Amino acid sequence: MSSEHLALAEHFHAAYGRACTGIWAAPGRVNLIGEHTDYNGGFVLPFALPQVSEVAAAAREDRMVHVRSLLNGETAEFSLDGLAPGVVAGWAAYAAGVLWSLEQAGHRLPGLDLLIDSTVPIGAGLSSSAALECSVVLAATDLAGVDLPAAELARLAQHAENDFVGMPCGIMDQMASVAAEAEHVLLLDTRSMSTEQVPFTLAPDDLALLVIDSRAEHRLVDGEYAARRAQCEAGARTLGVQSLRELTDDGVAPEELPARLPDEVTLRRVRHVLTENARVLAAREALRTGAYAQLGEILSASHASARDDFEITVEETDTMVQTLLSVPASDHVQPALGARQVGGGFGGCVIALIQADSFDGLLAAVQDNARRRGFTEPTGFLAHASAGARRLA
Ligand code: ADP
Ligand code: MG
Repeated sequence: MSSEHLALAEHFHAAYGRACTGIWAAPGRVNLIGEHTDYNGGFVLPFALPQVSEVAAAAREDRMVHVRSLLNGETAEFSLDGLAPGVVAGWAAYAAGVLWSLEQAGHRLPGLDLLIDSTVPIGAGLSSSAALECSVVLAATDLAGVDLPAAELARLAQHAENDFVGMPCGIMDQMASVAAEAEHVLLLDTRSMSTEQVPFTLAPDDLALLVIDSRAEHRLVDGEYAARRAQCEAGARTLGVQSLRELTDDGVAPEELPARLPDEVTLRRVRHVLTENARVLAAREALRTGAYAQLGEILSASHASARDDFEITVEETDTMVQTLLSVPASDHVQPALGARQVGGGFGGCVIALIQADSFDGLLAAVQDNARRRGFTEPTGFLAHASAGARRLA
């Protein structure tokens, strides 16, 4: 066991008085593009972060589960017997939900001792929740001797978040966490669940992907996410389609929508999903041909659509994108090629496609702007596409 894993193993020993059987990891993700398309049967293009949720685990002789997080020092205890939504609340519900979801699907589990640590920023729109779920689903299935394909692991983790935690998310976060590969973005068709690994290495072109946590007060009120989902479903009903994805297959042009959707808000929500699906496919083409200027424009167009049509951005992220795109060029900084808010919305992170050597200058410009406006100071890092969920030790 390498020294970095040893620390978690030692924490496990201190917590449970015995050795762990193994350590599993699952990453957070950045969605390059394809926002709020996953629950509409559409396309998404995420990649896995180097930041991961790690879980040290060992099976127990009984049906009890102990789950401890180093993040908050809390331990939750519950039995697999009688486990149901509502029985475990708070952060531990993400882990308990996964075990419930597995047993619901007919996989009999042993009791478990679990110790969790995470380097994924929490609540920043980088999916620390899916990272946690996917690390636990991997540990639990391995210890139970159950071998499931990636798409099924992702579905079980999503089921946990939807029906145990109560967050009606799509499949993207979990699928990115289990199925992403290093140096690639994952093109996922959320209707067929078919995937394609698209090479994504920016460094050879002196480019980089900047991730900035706006640290805007978290306003992803569950209600807003669910409301967007309901509006999309209402739009699909009015249009007489199963899911908004069909509009893409039918070659519907955005200009045709106003005549078919009399309600202005529904029109804008549907238009976002239709144009966003087209942008995901255009982004894949731009990546294939190395057309990075075009990729940048597509990212910025996605932000405009999220702001104007889907209305999920906030002043902090809007002005951040604006700053990234309009920084005056100088010897040591070039404006970003494109930028957009990522994640469910209402704050969280902004990503920008940038010249690699503009990192310091762009981050400083964004921080200056935040200071002037009295916003919390944003933090930033460069993200490279990393490996999906795996056993570490
Ligand atoms: P995001 O997925 O964007 O980070 P969410 O609100 O969906 O934001 O998920 C964050 C929640 O996940 C936290 O509030 C906490 O309940 C749970 N969580 C994630 N990682 C951990 C961890 N290592 N320890 C405890 N709770 C965690
Ligand atoms: Mg989440």
